[in-house]
Amino acid sequence: MTQANTLWAADALLPDGWARDVALAWDAQGRLTQVRAGVGPLPGQVRATGPLIPGMPNLHSHAFQRGFCGLTEYRAQAADSFWSWRDLMYRCASRIGPAEVEAIATWLYIEMLEAGYTSVCEFHYLHHDPQGRPYAPLPEMAMAILRAAERTGMGLTLLPVLYQTGGFGAAAPNDGQRRFLHDTAAMLRLLDTLKPFCDAQGARLGLAPHSLRAVPPATLTDVLAGLDALDATAPIHIHIAEQTKEVEDCIAWSGLPPVRWLLENAPVGPRWCLVHATHMTPDETLDAARTGAVAGLCPTTEANLGDGLFDMAHWRQGGGRWGVGSDSHATVNAAEELQWLEYGLRLTTRQRNVMAEAAQPHVATAMTLAAVAGGAQASSRPVAGLAPGEQADLVELDPLHVALAGLPARDMLSAHVFGSHRTSALRNVWVAGRKRVHEGLHPLRDSAAADFLNVRRNLVTNA
Ligand code: ZN
Repeated sequence: MTQANTLWAADALLPDGWARDVALAWDAQGRLTQVRAGVGPLPGQVRATGPLIPGMPNLHSHAFQRGFCGLTEYRAQAADSFWSWRDLMYRCASRIGPAEVEAIATWLYIEMLEAGYTSVCEFHYLHHDPQGRPYAPLPEMAMAILRAAERTGMGLTLLPVLYQTGGFGAAAPNDGQRRFLHDTAAMLRLLDTLKPFCDAQGARLGLAPHSLRAVPPATLTDVLAGLDALDATAPIHIHIAEQTKEVEDCIAWSGLPPVRWLLENAPVGPRWCLVHATHMTPDETLDAARTGAVAGLCPTTEANLGDGLFDMAHWRQGGGRWGVGSDSHATVNAAEELQWLEYGLRLTTRQRNVMAEAAQPHVATAMTLAAVAGGAQASSRPVAGLAPGEQADLVELDPLHVALAGLPARDMLSAHVFGSHRTSALRNVWVAGRKRVHEGLHPLRDSAAADFLNVRRNLVTNA
């Protein structure tokens, strides 16, 4: 065991709660081999100066959308909604190619790492050139995402998105959607092409049927069979029940709301991440929770888009698992997603500390542990916290930050989530045992920011 592969912390958040005097060790692949509480540091061993918490998996991202944050916050019609936002998003997307997506994703992943996310599930649907022609011989847009993750050190679950129709009942796609489209065989070829590139950098490859709007029933059956033939454990993510219009359209088409339709027509289980699942009946919520699927909650995006609030009460009653994603990246901060999730529940229930648990009354601690576990399951990567066999994805809270200084460790985490000064209270971040953020900063941040600003200048100039 070399010195570089160990770390000692006075306080660390382990899967069953806070522990004192914790010694961590990991192997050359960055997997934890030892997590022991109640032991002193070895002579000369590197010591964390603040409490260690597990890195947060970000279970839902469309990286390119970070490029136009701030550009859609004005009223374009009498009642703005998700759908008018989507029109603006499509217009911006039409100007983004491989170089642009790489610059945006590189900057975004640096922001994520500095904000406590150590891996991301990239729900990647901007596949083709602006005319809808595939990049060849390689899928350059996906390759740009892989390069951005590799350069920044971000752990990646790459989820190529299958998109075929513009609405329920096999409605034809519109021009804004032509960059997203694959027939089923082409999607399976894409997965085959990407598999060795993902394997080479430790990324996980899965599949994202975009939504029931975009994937007809027969296609869903076929593509899942094809995915199983490639990898019967690969993760499956789907947007579902984000919008009330989507629910109404699904009922008009099938007689069932979308989550119920999915439960009756697809093998929903622990490999699945149901992204948003905002609008479900109580019975749908209980039944979906009991499948073992993860609810992919994106509280700041759901607030930004006016989606609605997730029915956490029934989800928890069904033993449901959940994690958080930053989705459109209106906000890039793992702590803020937890804060918004809890605040939505406080506002609707008129109670406090709603997400606390009997075994874990400190709500920020309870939420961090639940979101790491659910996020790891959705990522299908060994990133489930500080335990042997998991990756050494570590986040060190900054004990000198004014919001945290002098507090007990568990209250430092509470202050990080609920008492934020809207500045980073994180000091160092490791991914797979390798330090990627030093004293709050990623070493590539200045050059990546400059590249990002060049791209955004062109997006704004040509808007
Ligand atoms: Zn999404």
